Amino acid sequence: MAELAFGLMRLPLTDTNDNASIDIEKTKELIDRFIELGGRYFDTAYVYHSGNSEKIFGELVADRYKREEFMVTTKMPMFNLKDKEEFPKIFNEQLTKCHVDYFDYYFLHALDEKRIKQAEELGGFEFIKKMKEEGKIKHLGFSFHDSAKVLDETLERHPEIELVQLQINYLDWDNPSVEAKACHEVALKHGVDINIMEPLKGGTLANISNEAKAIFNAVNHDSIIKWAFRFNAQLKNVKYILSGMNSLDQINENMAIFKDLRPLDQNEMEAIDKVVNQIIKEGNIDCTACHYCTDGCPKHIAIPEYFHLYNERFNTQKYEENLGSFKKLTQTNGKPSDCIACRACEDKCPQHLKITELLKKVARQFE
Ligand code: SF4
Ligand code: SF4
Repeated sequence: MAELAFGLMRLPLTDTNDNASIDIEKTKELIDRFIELGGRYFDTAYVYHSGNSEKIFGELVADRYKREEFMVTTKMPMFNLKDKEEFPKIFNEQLTKCHVDYFDYYFLHALDEKRIKQAEELGGFEFIKKMKEEGKIKHLGFSFHDSAKVLDETLERHPEIELVQLQINYLDWDNPSVEAKACHEVALKHGVDINIMEPLKGGTLANISNEAKAIFNAVNHDSIIKWAFRFNAQLKNVKYILSGMNSLDQINENMAIFKDLRPLDQNEMEAIDKVVNQIIKEGNIDCTACHYCTDGCPKHIAIPEYFHLYNERFNTQKYEENLGSFKKLTQTNGKPSDCIACRACEDKCPQHLKITELLKKVARQFE
């Protein structure tokens, strides 16, 4: 049965406008609670929280728990790499920051066709193989955002890969720009293990509309989060399901859910289909709030935060609050209409969103 993994990319902040400002005391509480309830797998990356996620992992997990009490994955930032000398430099920096001698899993981060080519040209796959031979990595993998065809070709060329981290959730299962179902089938064909990222699609599936909730409630009274996790946990070869948790309530709720992950029956699968149709009809922006796009924006536009507010536009109860949040964001960040369409962000977006066009929609809604 799949286990819950703690994704260290949406940790509590001391300044909500500064993604690097991790709240150490609150994060410590979360980590301790996760481990107390039986959790052990942590997922971090070089770029999460502008580099501070790995550092916090080292201080709060590796320094305070025995090595056999936790597992850790981190990732090589392929989107920032220009030259092969950077592989050992970044890898050694990661070992130092995470305060470990080896990583349980190590991934090439956010691969798509372009970055796979780049990784192959720069010797990225050879590099991680060498680190495994030296005992600094236990298992090799990559996180992936492209078509099933690209995944199939890549796994064919790289039998050394033991696990792929895929974006799977009920909304993306048949989504043509994600191909979750087809990617899952490819992973099974190659016999590799699977980690699931974005099981709640960056929080989207934890905030579905009242109409969508009513569809689930008509079938049973599981929480909407439980519906999403149950969908994922029933899939073959899934080892870990990641959740970027940032409150004790989330940890308590998720860990309880993972103790009771019954597969969905026919009736429940039909409810999932209806909810998917309802969400598609509502026309929300498919942003998972990963923040990969924000670091290089010359106008410091709070892209994921604006998209989140846009997705809440039908929530009339929160309208005034959202308008207030929008105004507050514009005081310290560029406005959606400040976008100069340089497209630096679009190149980094794993969801392949047309960010410049979507910001125009947000501007029409709020400005
Ligand atoms: S296209 Fe707009 S939002 Fe994207 S990086 Fe350029 S200015 Fe920022
Ligand atoms: S717009 Fe794309 S890159 Fe930016 S936070 Fe959303 S999903 Fe991530």
